[in-house]
Amino acid sequence: LRSLPQLEKFDKEIYDAVKNETQRQRDHVELIASENFISEAVLETLGTTLNNKYAEGYPGKRYYGGCEFVDIAEDLARNRLCELFGADHANVQPHSGANANMAVYLAVLKPGDTVLGMNLSEGGHLTHGSPVNISGLYYNFVDYGVDPETETIDYDQVRERALEHKPKLIVAGASAYSREIDFAKFKEIADEVGAYFMVDMAHIAGLIAVGEHPSPIPYADFVTTTTHKTLRGPRGGAILCKAEHAKKIDKAVFPGLQGGPLEHVIAAKAVCFKEALTDEFKEYIKQVKKNAVALGEALTEGGIRLVSGGTDNHLLLLDVRNLGLTGKEAEALLEEVNITTNKNTIPNDPESPFVTSGVRVGTPAVTTRGMKEDGFREIGKYMVQALKKERPAADIKADVLKLMSNYKLYE
Ligand code: PLP
Repeated sequence: LRSLPQLEKFDKEIYDAVKNETQRQRDHVELIASENFISEAVLETLGTTLNNKYAEGYPGKRYYGGCEFVDIAEDLARNRLCELFGADHANVQPHSGANANMAVYLAVLKPGDTVLGMNLSEGGHLTHGSPVNISGLYYNFVDYGVDPETETIDYDQVRERALEHKPKLIVAGASAYSREIDFAKFKEIADEVGAYFMVDMAHIAGLIAVGEHPSPIPYADFVTTTTHKTLRGPRGGAILCKAEHAKKIDKAVFPGLQGGPLEHVIAAKAVCFKEALTDEFKEYIKQVKKNAVALGEALTEGGIRLVSGGTDNHLLLLDVRNLGLTGKEAEALLEEVNITTNKNTIPNDPESPFVTSGVRVGTPAVTTRGMKEDGFREIGKYMVQALKKERPAADIKADVLKLMSNYKLYE
């Protein structure tokens, strides 16, 4: 644990929660595909005095005095993000990925407008039109999904649905999809029906940043992201867009959706983008992908079916039905041996979203700790042993702890 002397002295309860969480992160195999471990530099930036500053507005055009230094930080964040992805304009103020998506909707849609997005149960995100989310409550979302045979996006269905419903906006991007997404094909369909095209690249932003997944920037009117997944930055969101949409997007984020920006988080985003521009980050992302393939091979060899048969990115979706398990049970069995995952629906899932038939795993976090293919093959072996109950959970957990002690975290 980093030294937090003031906190320890003043608030032992919170200090202990932080201490225990740090130890939990060290002792577990973090396979939640949307998580990562930020660098010490990003972590330091989050705990700075920039937290104290109100800065409604944008650099050079604020509603508060004293913004000269946060302006520097926010301008660096915007410029570095544009450089990283080759975009015209960036807004780094969204507090989260959900807010980034809502800001695009607010910028181009009226309540009741039709939007075409990926079905949540086949890989889409809550903010892509789930009936319990504001996106589904305020807008008329219609969905597309994956082909039942290949379990990859059914572009013919996307086109049919687009022609049938004439959406004002088409949304591509997913939370649980392990294959490459063809943004050019989506753009062709959007153009055919005269729709705006938005890509939510939250999961694969790090891959796109270094050219390890095709970029949506040449095709999409709007690209949204989180900054804390494969991009390995602070929790938050961002939007990239073509110059013609810049004013609309900025107005939608503030004053449309948010108040004061989190300038300490924005500064930490700037540090993350600087890191993402380095050769080390490119090597890291390449390793993330190699590790996903290695983990997938180990799981397949152990008799676990991968949805779509494999992965092109940082994540894998496991179908655990042939082990006689639900996703919920599988998640619990893995947790017993210190392997953290999340249950997830699979295409045509017979179970409810609370139970599910799948487990989603990803390699970004553990790769940050320095693990390579051989380590991931070992993890795959322990996962198979735990899911098939081949050895006592306590024994597997002891092996997992021993393995993870070789990979340092915040020490
Ligand atoms: N978009 C996608 C594709 C996501 O996977 C997520 C988060 O899991 C989000 C948006 C939302 O991000 P946040 O949790 O920061 O609101």
